Amino acid sequence: MSHATFVGPDLTTFTRLDELGLLVTGQHVELERAVLACRVVEPDQWCRRCGCEGLVRDTVTRRLAHEPLGWRPTLIVTVRRYRCSGCGHV
Ligand SMILES: [Zn+2]
Repeated sequence: MSHATFVGPDLTTFTRLDELGLLVTGQHVELERAVLACRVVEPDQWCRRCGCEGLVRDTVTRRLAHEPLGWRPTLIVTVRRYRCSGCGHV
């Protein structure tokens, strides 16, 4: 590491959330905990039942708490939900 190349700090790659297809969009750090807000990078609008394209219906947030960083970070992930234009499956 004596010739390490430094790039700009990036919380997404620092926490390796890019490997999960997530992008960190915000942080909230307190003494006892840290919350990272994330969203899914790749859109996922294709129906798993019939293959039709879905339309964005709403957005839900899911709270996860397993990102291992030694102190107690919590992830809040924003997930888009789609309703299929073919079969109506959400
Ligand atoms: Zn469908």
